[in-house]
Amino acid sequence: TAAVLDTACIFCKIIKGEIPSFKLIETKHSFSFLDIQPTADAHVLVIPKHHSAKMHQLPDEYLADILPVAKKLAIALDLTNESPEGVGYNILQNNGRIAHQVVDHVHFHLIPKRDDKTGLI
Ligand code: 5GP
Ligand code: ZN
Repeated sequence: TAAVLDTACIFCKIIKGEIPSFKLIETKHSFSFLDIQPTADAHVLVIPKHHSAKMHQLPDEYLADILPVAKKLAIALDLTNESPEGVGYNILQNNGRIAHQVVDHVHFHLIPKRDDKTGLI
């Protein structure tokens, strides 16, 4: 499926470079960058290069590109991990206002968890 971007969508503008972002990994079908209002250090968003509001509306080839990218980012996090427990993180994906989705372009949050005592990821 050819990429379809929405001229009015902020995440489509980030993909096109019309809005600046701290880019991490870009692939044929996805784009990842730091969240502008992180809930933790190195809070990352992974988005498809296809404008769909909700996850179930996304063509499979775009969806399939997301988790391998999240995996690479988690490996990078793990390489810098200093916590004896090993790296911890949550993957979060909200769909619809009722589920706290604010930006209507599919996105996966990768949110590192810090140890409360040591402050280490
Ligand atoms: P949601 O609640 O829709 O799952 O999360 C949307 C996320 O997008 C929020 O964590 C918010 O901080 C992030 N966000 C919104 N606008 C921008 C932006 O212009 N740039 C970046 N990097 N992140 C954004
Ligand atoms: Zn979009």
